[in-house]
Amino acid sequence: DYVVSGEAEDFFPQFLGDWLANNARKGLHTTSRGKVDLNLYPGFSELVGYLPPLEISRGCKFGCMFCGVPRLHAGTLRHRSLASIEAIVKEYFRIKTSRKRMKFLASNAFAYGSDGRQPNLAALKDLLEMLKGIGVPEIHLGSFPSEVRPDFVTPEVMQLVAPYLSNKTIVMGVQTGSDNMLKKMNRGHSREDSVRAIALLREFGFQPHIDFIVGNPDETEDDQFELIDFMDEMLEKYQVRIHMHTFVPLPATPWENKLQSPINEKVKQRLRELERAGVLDGWWENHIGYFRTAKG
Ligand code: SF4
Repeated sequence: DYVVSGEAEDFFPQFLGDWLANNARKGLHTTSRGKVDLNLYPGFSELVGYLPPLEISRGCKFGCMFCGVPRLHAGTLRHRSLASIEAIVKEYFRIKTSRKRMKFLASNAFAYGSDGRQPNLAALKDLLEMLKGIGVPEIHLGSFPSEVRPDFVTPEVMQLVAPYLSNKTIVMGVQTGSDNMLKKMNRGHSREDSVRAIALLREFGFQPHIDFIVGNPDETEDDQFELIDFMDEMLEKYQVRIHMHTFVPLPATPWENKLQSPINEKVKQRLRELERAGVLDGWWENHIGYFRTAKG
């Protein structure tokens, strides 16, 4: 009966009051984008008893063609303040004293406190020092449900974060092995950046878990074979783990009306082999043909 398009936090309390009074308007409610102040909403309720990963940042300053995040949040990147994070983490440990692990939600965990274009080392250090200072036994940053971008995996960032983190895996969006496709996707980094970041993750003792997308609009067979070659090279040199996706056109993105490119049969076979070998996961095969065009 009711659909909310956009961020719901500012809208929901008023709506709930109207709904309880049998006075809520049915249909689509559109809220403003990029405006919610994360510090006003803790993101959990003691009444519900579920303590989810804590959202430390929302939005993204990049504009990848396939991604809904910058469009949902009007190109903004907002961060929860250190004081708000500290207060919520303390609450989590007060409510559940046996808790050990803190996980965080962010589109790019290493962008915490930054302008979204390059890391803010001081803000990252303040965050990690605060978490350590209040005695969080296991800090997980850069693993699901947060991930990182290759251009934020720098020697300085890795030197800073590695001593604090308990997660062994870092999830990184690389998306493709072809510079041609990276440009079409508007990723804002090169294949070389991806290789350098994967090598750095390994050097600092992390298991790289790498997101890739196949079947992108205007993707050629050569692009797909380049992707497979790239994966094989990264598997051999750095023992990465692959999280595979098939392109799905998402609403409000520049590619919302684009079609999946057919995936070459040899490419599919190789992906299945990697799956059987236990180095590739993801729902890529279920998402083949999983889209609607503008015509329905
Ligand atoms: S894929 Fe990641 S970097 Fe690209 S726009 Fe989405 S959130 Fe930002």
